[in-house]
Amino acid sequence: MESLRAKSLRFWVALGMCLALTPLIVSGVGGYFLLQRGVIMPFDDVADRQRHQIAPVQQLRFLLWETLKPIDEYIEENDPSHIPAYRDLRERIESGFASLLEVLGDKPALQALVKRARADWSEADVHATDLLAADLNADGTTNPRALQLFHAHVLAANDKLAGAYRELVTVIERDHDIALKSYEKSLWIAAIAGVISLIMLIGGLVIIGRILKASVDRLVDGAVRFAEGDRLHRIKVHVPPELRRVADEFNHMIERIHESEAVLSEMAHRDSLTGLLNRRAFDDAFPELQARMLRHGEVASLLAIDIDKFKETNDEHSHAAGDEVLRTVAELMAQHVRTSDSLFRLGGEEFAVLLSQTGLEEAHEVAERLREAIAATAIQYEGAEIRTTISIGIAEVLARFPQEVTMSTADNALYLAKTQGRNRVVISDERGSSARPGST
Ligand code: GH3
Ligand code: MG
Ligand code: MG
Repeated sequence: MESLRAKSLRFWVALGMCLALTPLIVSGVGGYFLLQRGVIMPFDDVADRQRHQIAPVQQLRFLLWETLKPIDEYIEENDPSHIPAYRDLRERIESGFASLLEVLGDKPALQALVKRARADWSEADVHATDLLAADLNADGTTNPRALQLFHAHVLAANDKLAGAYRELVTVIERDHDIALKSYEKSLWIAAIAGVISLIMLIGGLVIIGRILKASVDRLVDGAVRFAEGDRLHRIKVHVPPELRRVADEFNHMIERIHESEAVLSEMAHRDSLTGLLNRRAFDDAFPELQARMLRHGEVASLLAIDIDKFKETNDEHSHAAGDEVLRTVAELMAQHVRTSDSLFRLGGEEFAVLLSQTGLEEAHEVAERLREAIAATAIQYEGAEIRTTISIGIAEVLARFPQEVTMSTADNALYLAKTQGRNRVVISDERGSSARPGST
């Protein structure tokens, strides 16, 4: 079965053509022999017998009739000039009988009939010879009995030849009918073979067409689903192998595109300096978190984080040193958040943490951990020791509150932390209208 599936479309088309043409070829060859043996040969035979048997019989009958004339006229006119005409006819009749008997060698019954006709003719000739031998001038009388017998034997010979003629015609007509039936039979065979060929051809075309259509439909459907963004769909085409290769290549291409898209998406959602998720990722993650909260009735919190006096750090050390501070702060924060939390660099020296399943109190603890970790770290850069701190504003994430509102609530708390002296955590109250101070 597997090996059949692996056969190419060309193989199936060739096989289909062979199957469709086989009845035509078989009927062509069979029909040729049937025509040859059943039609052409019998018709040839009929024509042959017409020429060599029927025509000579009729000729003989005519000649026999002809013999009556010279004898009758000889008697009536007492004119010996009719004698050579009779002798000439007699010679032709004799040789006619001889050759007819020869061609009827394979038909003993007919041959016997013709022999009896020849015997009648011989009797007639004996009487004719008697009549011609009598000296008419001597006594002026004829032998009426001899003339009568001559006539009777000529008629008898003629009757028997007529019988042979009828017999030959009957046989020929029968053969003719058989040949005609064979001819009709070959026409039927050719027609049936033609119909079978046509049915097989149409059947083959329909089957191949259906297989092709099903496979092409799957390819088109796969391409449409891919265009509509379905990256998980794989096209399943087994036959013909030509289209299976197309489907395999297509699936392979989808996988490669899928991989590149994943890489591109990862790049688009990551910040190149710190390796943290970026603003775009934050914008995707926030509504996802809200949807989860709605589904499971969870709570969540947002930390808005800003490095304190970062401009001064840049100015005091260098921009490159500032970059190193950004990287280290990011690394330290990543170490101090839980795996279920998401850490983002929103831009510049501003960060955010989305804490799922975390209320304000717990969020405060996390924020404090982060703040303390940063404040306790001395960052080494080109021999210099850089110290920095962060300020954090905390807002409760509400499932039905817009992202911007939650963001500005956290920012407000962050602003309070800055104004209260920096390096501290401020928790916003529930609606973001005011904030309560945290600890330093
Ligand atoms: P505050 O405590 O009020 O936040 O003071 P600040 O100096 O941190 O705030 P400000 O907004 O005045 O300065 C932010 C600075 O961060 C200005 C900018 O040059 C610097 N900065 C932003 N992005 C980068 C960066 O990618 N690398 C470096 N080295 N510096 C950056
Ligand atoms: Mg800032
Ligand atoms: Mg700052």
